[in-house]
Amino acid sequence: MRSDSNTTPVSGPGFLVISPSLDCNNACIFCYDNYRVKGSRPAASAQEIAADAARMAARMGVGAVAVSGGEPLLYAELEQLTRLLKAAGLFVCVMTNGRLLARAQRLERLLEAGVDHFHIPLHSDDQAAHDAVTGVAGSFAQTVAGLANVAEVRARRPLGLTVVHVMHRRNYRRLPELVDFVAGFAPDHALLSHCIVEVQSPREHLALLARFEDIAPFVAQAHRVGQARGLPVYVENVPPCMMRGREAICVDFHKFNRLAVGGFKAAGERGEGGFEPFEQSIKSGQRTHADQCRRCAIQDFCGGFYRSYIEAMGQPDLEPYSVQELRSRQAAARQTS
Ligand code: SF4
Repeated sequence: MRSDSNTTPVSGPGFLVISPSLDCNNACIFCYDNYRVKGSRPAASAQEIAADAARMAARMGVGAVAVSGGEPLLYAELEQLTRLLKAAGLFVCVMTNGRLLARAQRLERLLEAGVDHFHIPLHSDDQAAHDAVTGVAGSFAQTVAGLANVAEVRARRPLGLTVVHVMHRRNYRRLPELVDFVAGFAPDHALLSHCIVEVQSPREHLALLARFEDIAPFVAQAHRVGQARGLPVYVENVPPCMMRGREAICVDFHKFNRLAVGGFKAAGERGEGGFEPFEQSIKSGQRTHADQCRRCAIQDFCGGFYRSYIEAMGQPDLEPYSVQELRSRQAAARQTS
């Protein structure tokens, strides 16, 4: 997330993710909240959520909040929540599927409330493929209209935009075309996110996972397309060793070494408190390393990958770094600087 001239500067590196409700108007095939019972409790008030968020942000020393869901635009008090978070001095990113931003008036109300940044997923550059992922006919048209509205606003005033694309077995071969399409909306970044399957997720989600070595060439090609179009492209949930020469685009590396990430999300009808803690997954029990990682020179700085990957594919075929390789690369970097 970036800090614009008219917005609050981010203090410490990292951010808080908060989810007022799990209600959603999409039903994405990989949604890692699918295992949660989503029936909504009466949502907490914007005042309660903002007060908890401000306390937690202060404790973590971060200055940014990402409001997620479910679909946060379905939370009736989102504008009020945004105003309160801004009043607490926080940078506000809204992680929305973008469909309701097709209504320009809703977008305008959110901007008036103070939203600094939108984080919007696009599942394909092809309408049928996108709608097959969300399970909602017409969702592609609405998300694209929402993206166009945000792009139009960005042409006249500062507003952050990240377009995220969840990579899975059915869509990774079109990553270059996807990035080319996304570039048309001129976001700050495109984020290619390897599909997350959590320990608690339905086991049929495992079939969505694609091998790192199969995805890597398409990510590299998509990165080149982004460079040609002036669009920074990042990747997450893919180990840096699978992005040889492009490690800097691996968001996990930054999250593991520099960023504090935490928060809380609506618990759904689980008989628990209204919210449960959101754990930084890269440092949680969701992650693991492979046998090969034991001989990797950067293991202490690498967050590995999701445990579910081994469940789906067995041990991955990784490319551990040797000390010699790191020394050679450092020497080469010194010579060119
Ligand atoms: S620790 Fe493992 S996953 Fe991480 S870069 Fe090294 S080999 Fe790859």
